[in-house]
Amino acid sequence: MRPIPESVSKTFYIETFGCQMNVHDSEKVRGLLEQRGYSRVKSADEAGLVLYNTCSIRDKAERKVFARLSQIKRRSAGKTVGVLGCVAQHNGAEIFERAPHVDFVCGSASYNALPGILDRVEAGESRVAGLELDTDETFDVPRVDRVRAYTAYITIIEGCDKACTYCVVPFTRGPERSRSSASVMREAAHLQELGYTEITLLGQTVNSYSDPSPAGWSFARLLDEIGRLPRIRRVRFTTSHPSDFTPDIVEAIDRNESLCDWVHLPVQSGSTSVLRAMRRTYSRDDYMRCVAMIKAAARRIELSTDIIVGFPGETESDFQQTLGLLDEVEYASVFSFKYSARKGTVAAGMPQIPEAVKGRRLIELQQRQREIQIRRNAELIGRTEEVLVEGWRKRFGQWIGRTTQNRVLNFADPEGLATGRDLRGTYCQARVTAAGPNSLVGELASPSARAAFQGLRVLQ
Ligand code: SF4
Repeated sequence: MRPIPESVSKTFYIETFGCQMNVHDSEKVRGLLEQRGYSRVKSADEAGLVLYNTCSIRDKAERKVFARLSQIKRRSAGKTVGVLGCVAQHNGAEIFERAPHVDFVCGSASYNALPGILDRVEAGESRVAGLELDTDETFDVPRVDRVRAYTAYITIIEGCDKACTYCVVPFTRGPERSRSSASVMREAAHLQELGYTEITLLGQTVNSYSDPSPAGWSFARLLDEIGRLPRIRRVRFTTSHPSDFTPDIVEAIDRNESLCDWVHLPVQSGSTSVLRAMRRTYSRDDYMRCVAMIKAAARRIELSTDIIVGFPGETESDFQQTLGLLDEVEYASVFSFKYSARKGTVAAGMPQIPEAVKGRRLIELQQRQREIQIRRNAELIGRTEEVLVEGWRKRFGQWIGRTTQNRVLNFADPEGLATGRDLRGTYCQARVTAAGPNSLVGELASPSARAAFQGLRVLQ
């Protein structure tokens, strides 16, 4: 046992890797630590407790975590080091062998166990592991230390029952379990009271949501109810699975102005044979039918997606079908990756594609998508869009805004600058004056009339 020096024991630093689910998990962990009397510091060097909330979706993300652990090793004297999240769950107690200075590991489905783990660690114990796939967890947590002041995450479903052959999530986050609609609505109403105006509903397969309570709400019903909260101006949800994207979800978006005009719908490949090898449960035609249904909505709903290139067995013709799909769908944005084998998955045992081929395909795909985004974003020049202002780009003298279609629109407000007007957290109308592949540039047209209820938030 190694006693924790009193001077540093109640400070913590947490670094988060990976998706929004992990970002939100870290918010919950921060809330828990603050309740236990810990205070957050800005760097690992200042902290008594250093936590890494990890992602193992790709090999690169996992290597990054171990690189971070070896960096902290040199500076860990007197510190307690913990590994949370997917790498902890995926590698388990092996982490103690690879990084002996790690004091505890806690998997992404074991956060319920974290207080008990901390009790043991605070008592000076080391090599404490919490790796159970706890499926009885409550989604209600007493305190969440949220990253931003006006946009908030709510977890509505955890885990995944799909079995994509490349994915570790079913092992790291366990089987799918939905949160009761009453619990979701309680949190949404609480966020509204706190002044949040944008909510993002989270889940690995968010649209597979199925209310476990007697109320039995569908995902579309949940969207409807949250969409009706009077002071919630924007509702997003991610990530959707194409197989569970039912027409009632599009109808709910059509009915509720506050549901954003954006759907993230991972396709992964444009080839049915690759989709079959991935066990994605839909064909290219199924996916395109889903896209057509979303595009037929009353409002223009923008789509983004995830694509894996170089999946085992992907031929040149398969890859060309993926490029063709980009042209057909015209996504607003694409997150694309080279396939990387993950330990314990079915695809890791399949014959692999050479790295050079994967690299070439990724560049080609990104170039094709870049051209689409340049063209599509240029079409927006001259239009006025409503944005939620998320930050300030000091170097460029621009506010960072996000449109309902999830595009970044940076804009100037020379008049407001002179008076020191802080627009963060407000909704503004901005006119698009220029466009690049990844963002738009504009100028303030007017603060939105509909923002009146919210007032200007004062931010440090
Ligand atoms: S749907 Fe597939 S890729 Fe997504 S979390 Fe589940 S198993 Fe992983």
